Amino acid sequence: MINLKERVAVITGGSRGNGLGMAKVLGSYGATIALFNDIKPEKPMSGITMENAVKELRDMGIHSKGYNVDVTEREQVESGVCEVIQDFGKIDILINNAGIARLCKFENMTDELRDLHFNVNIIGAWNCTKAVIENMMKNKYGRIINISSVTGTVVCDSGFTAYATSKAALIGLTKALAVEYANSGITVNAILPGYIYTEMVQKSAEESNPVNPESILNGIASGIPMKRLGTTEELGELAAFLASDAAGYITGTQNIFDGGSTLPETGCMGV
Ligand code: NAP
Repeated sequence: MINLKERVAVITGGSRGNGLGMAKVLGSYGATIALFNDIKPEKPMSGITMENAVKELRDMGIHSKGYNVDVTEREQVESGVCEVIQDFGKIDILINNAGIARLCKFENMTDELRDLHFNVNIIGAWNCTKAVIENMMKNKYGRIINISSVTGTVVCDSGFTAYATSKAALIGLTKALAVEYANSGITVNAILPGYIYTEMVQKSAEESNPVNPESILNGIASGIPMKRLGTTEELGELAAFLASDAAGYITGTQNIFDGGSTLPETGCMGV
């Protein structure tokens, strides 16, 4: 049985999608949940989404609080981490989940769009890890989980250059941190999701086919051996295991979570 009672988890980008799914599962195993999300005037829904997420978690009986933190801003991350430690005494688990994906042909990719991916997907994880590591070292306990992707690490489709590069970089960071803190009670692992139905996937489907995004989602499902996209709660179960005491000897790993989508060799040969 996974038991996360007495554990405090920071989940970045936890107000919806994969982050919220993982928050629900870790919370259901007893963890206190701190959500880090950036609330900005240019994202008018972000405050409401985080408020709703915290309410949803509290309605489930999960001890939780939201923090207005843009993971790309080091000072905001540092003060968010200080606040969590003031509120709950420590940080045991960090899930670097905040991420963005915008489809764009390489020749049209602006430096700004490239940097947006690098800043949120890789520098964000860097900033959050940097901010929590001292507290984890002091407590001789830490579980850091980086949400990478099969995109850029195992497979790729056209239009994902910035996203794929950032997700591959996250594997380098995972391995480097894992080896550096292996003797400090801190494990660092990556999860590489395939397709999980969230707003990010819905948006990418709309960018791929604005007229009929459903056809894209159906096409994705039919190409997955399990014939369906994953759920955020299923992802949460893997994250909860990696966050638990039971996973204490697992570090530096890349955990593919994709319903078998990266398995087929040709997709057409066979009986
Ligand atoms: P999503 O629905 O778009 O959610 C992304 C979350 O990140 C949102 O809560 C968003 O906040 C937050 N966020 C974005 N920029 C941020 C920033 N600068 N600081 C703090 N929070 C920020 O995406 P998702 O599908 O759940 O994806 C979550 C993670 O899983 C990402 O790293 C993604 O690359 C990875 N992943 C997803 C899939 C999939 O199939 N869904 C597959 C592979 C990997 P707002 O709501 O305020 O915008």
